[in-house]
Amino acid sequence: MPSKNTPPNQNPAAQSLQRLEEGNVKFVTDELSHHLQDTSRRAELENGQSPWAIILTCADSRVVPELIFDTGIGELFVVRVAGNVANTSTLASIEYAVHNLGVKLIIVLGHEGCGAVKAAMDGGDLGENLNHLLAHIKPAIEKPFKQGNGQVNEAVERNAINSAHQLLDRSEIIRNAEQLEIVPAIYRLATGKVEYLSSQSA
Ligand SMILES: [Zn+2]
Repeated sequence: MPSKNTPPNQNPAAQSLQRLEEGNVKFVTDELSHHLQDTSRRAELENGQSPWAIILTCADSRVVPELIFDTGIGELFVVRVAGNVANTSTLASIEYAVHNLGVKLIIVLGHEGCGAVKAAMDGGDLGENLNHLLAHIKPAIEKPFKQGNGQVNEAVERNAINSAHQLLDRSEIIRNAEQLEIVPAIYRLATGKVEYLSSQSA
């Protein structure tokens, strides 16, 4: 959560999180505004971008960050890879947005029924490339799960939290960024709701 010493209205991460929450309510209730998606917006951004949130999420076609948060062009810096893992390439992309664009909020957005997480749980040899990807998810499935059939979604939550930790552990730029917040979250497929998990401060 934001530092207690900074009033919410002066904390850029808290402001951005609030905008995401308000946008998600519009998405959930089928009241998308479709703002900032037209000719004038494209022209406005021709010479640069200033997004206000970074979203690290899965490549799954059902997870569409700009819609989920009711945002337009140039608002979100979205980094997508199956299983929303913090690997060298996603870290480098996020470092660019933090260091060069000054973004103060990172959401690590896992989702229900994630195929990459399921594949990691199933195990086996899936070839060099998928094995490499799934190795990043493995830490989320090593500890025993609670009883019941929600194991995949429990692993999805753990994986989002683990990726958030990895962003801090593996990046000096992210660790040293001032007023940066990293918030893991899970996306509910049927309702469209984003639920936030415990946050990490840089
Ligand atoms: Zn997925």
